[in-house]
Amino acid sequence: MKQTLKPKSWAEPYKIKMVEPVFMTTKADRQRYIAEAGYNTFLLRSRDVYIDLLTDSGTSAMSDRQWAALMLGDEAYAGSENFYHLEDAVRRYYGYKYIVPTHQGRGAENILSQILISPGQYIPGNMYFTTTRLHQELAGGQFVDIIVDEAHDPDNLFPFKGNCDLEKLQTLIAKVGAENIPYVSIATTVNMAGGQPISLENLRAVRELTNKHGIKIVHDMTRVAENAFMIQQLEEGQGTKSVARIVREICDLTDAATMSSKKDALVNIGGFMAMNDEQVYDQARNLVVVYEGLHTYGGMAGRDMEALSVGIAESVEDTHIRARVGQVHYLGNKLLEAGIPLIRPLGTHGIFLNATKFLPHLSQDEFPAQTLAAELYIDSGVRAMERGIVSAGRDKKTGKRNYPKLESVRLTLPRRVYTQAHMDIVAESVINVYERRAGIKGLEMIYEPEFLPFFQARFAPRA
Ligand SMILES: *Cc1c(COP(=O)(O)O)cnc(C)c1O
Repeated sequence: MKQTLKPKSWAEPYKIKMVEPVFMTTKADRQRYIAEAGYNTFLLRSRDVYIDLLTDSGTSAMSDRQWAALMLGDEAYAGSENFYHLEDAVRRYYGYKYIVPTHQGRGAENILSQILISPGQYIPGNMYFTTTRLHQELAGGQFVDIIVDEAHDPDNLFPFKGNCDLEKLQTLIAKVGAENIPYVSIATTVNMAGGQPISLENLRAVRELTNKHGIKIVHDMTRVAENAFMIQQLEEGQGTKSVARIVREICDLTDAATMSSKKDALVNIGGFMAMNDEQVYDQARNLVVVYEGLHTYGGMAGRDMEALSVGIAESVEDTHIRARVGQVHYLGNKLLEAGIPLIRPLGTHGIFLNATKFLPHLSQDEFPAQTLAAELYIDSGVRAMERGIVSAGRDKKTGKRNYPKLESVRLTLPRRVYTQAHMDIVAESVINVYERRAGIKGLEMIYEPEFLPFFQARFAPRA
């Protein structure tokens, strides 16, 4: 079934000024390259990829205004003019009082986790994200999933699968005590659930409950503009608001934030943490010197902070975000029409193939999502990413593999990079692989690194 948002046309509000040629490969080439990469798409060389849908992280095309902003870099070690522009942009568009730049999102996660979490505490969240959870654990905390059950069902059409289950949160508070919950971790949108949004109504309810217990909300605002667009499109009473205004309302309901500006904010590198509490700011400013750099650059070049300020403003424009999500849904609807099993409803930053249904003859121990990503690359040179048992890693205490309910392959769309014709190629290739799915064999893992195994694990075809 096709899924339509309100705007009929999602045509891009820009034209192309510069192009980047890509290399073309043959199927025989790709069979060799993927074997050399241990059947892990993260280990392919990008020159061997035709359409790169590995991630939307740091892969966006910057606008001419952002490229011009690079020329305004004030590369001072301390007090760069660009820092103050960034601070202005964060205050204006997101509303947080204080900002500390970091080299990317995980730099902010590391520092904020260390400041806010004491060993033995619990951090409830609307589903885990790999680096976010890891930093919570490294700080001695334990992540607790409080996302609504619908999020774990890839066929449930509930529009706000990023919502928190308030009963789960209430139960946790009753069980461990509010004093053992430093904050609730809220992601907009929820990456691991398929790019699913949280509603304003649900976030307000989380705010009310946490206020009652003196618990903070830390906002993983990596894709906040995309989440705001989905609220505008789907939430009752929100349709007449601008995306920029909804973004502000979301941020205003939270106490602090970590941002990977490599996603929504349209730059290739960078991040920050932001907060309203002066004491937390003081500590963050102090710790950032240890891990990232002085608090007025935090690992970023002045020019990159300038491009980020421009990117933040562009990212909340209605015409931009409509084209961005519109392209994702164009691809998704093509696949749905061909009967391809996808995680639904369609999310905002990519299409998630349901690998469990795509390759039903493979058990989870045969890495169906990893296998499917490799097959897709061999078929057409399209690079996707595993989001399943490899990404889920192992339980910290028992050392046993986590078995996530969702085994998926993510086709993530870089912002402003590919055309509608590219999307057609991607759809054709997925359909090709689907038609010969019965003959596809699984993989075995032959090398597993200790941390975040999906990045560097190596595989071999099963005999
Ligand atoms: C990418 C991402 C992060 C981490 O940010 P990096 O810039 O890659 O370090 C955190 N949370 C979410 C939801 C993300 O997508």
